[in-house]
Amino acid sequence: MTDIPEDHPRYQSLLTRHRIEEGVESGITSKQGLIAEGRGEAFDYLLGEETIPSAEAAARAAAARLLLADHPVVSVNGNVAALVPGETVELAEAVGADLEVNLFNRTPERMEAIADHLREHGAEDVKGLEADARIPGLDHERAKVDAEGIHAADAVVVPLEDGDRAEALAEMGKTEVVIDLNPLSRSAQTAAIPIVDNILRAVPNITEHARELEDASREELEAIVAEFDREAALEEAERAIRRGDLD
Ligand code: ATP
Repeated sequence: MTDIPEDHPRYQSLLTRHRIEEGVESGITSKQGLIAEGRGEAFDYLLGEETIPSAEAAARAAAARLLLADHPVVSVNGNVAALVPGETVELAEAVGADLEVNLFNRTPERMEAIADHLREHGAEDVKGLEADARIPGLDHERAKVDAEGIHAADAVVVPLEDGDRAEALAEMGKTEVVIDLNPLSRSAQTAAIPIVDNILRAVPNITEHARELEDASREELEAIVAEFDREAALEEAERAIRRGDLD
């Protein structure tokens, strides 16, 4: 698999599958993560495997919103850790966010494996292991978060979050940036800023915008956030997928 030639038309998608497979083998990704990847791939195929203009605008709004936040947190699950570990660490650095491991199928072994993997990719402090606070309205295991992490955050990046937890976080008043290739998923529908794009493209894209906006004033950042239209972005993504215009 590692010998896939880079000019192979399905290079990116084959590489992604390979990384997820490795993630499962090394105990980072759950088997459910394989299914999530398959769902995502189908949507990405119909999007032409590219960042559409509304996702670009969403990534910029996300960068601005995270730079404005008092306490931003980037949530990391098994697919995120397998696909974009270094890029996620860079994003957290660029916007001054904490990293918190947050799993649907939580086991101590997977939590540790993901935290170690992030540290190998340059993370200094990884939250999520304390689990000393709860998100109201969720069952015991899925409610666990760090009191100093997601529980205290005002803005949270939740790539590939499950719908229940995305809704529960929104109920807590958090501003959510969701990265999800399905514009109809409850997570995307709940988000203040839904980015309908592959995390492989979206995570480095937000970082790039954040670096560009580093010296922007609060007024400029607030204007970028205010200009972003979440309904229009979700509609454009759904239209692009339904049209499935593959040139
Ligand atoms: P919801 O409850 O939010 O409606 P779900 O829980 O049914 O959604 P899952 O089956 O957990 O969703 O799938 C995870 C989601 O992650 C899917 O919507 C899929 O499109 C998305 N996804 C998978 N891989 C990627 C990726 N690489 N980049 C962005 N999104 C992805």
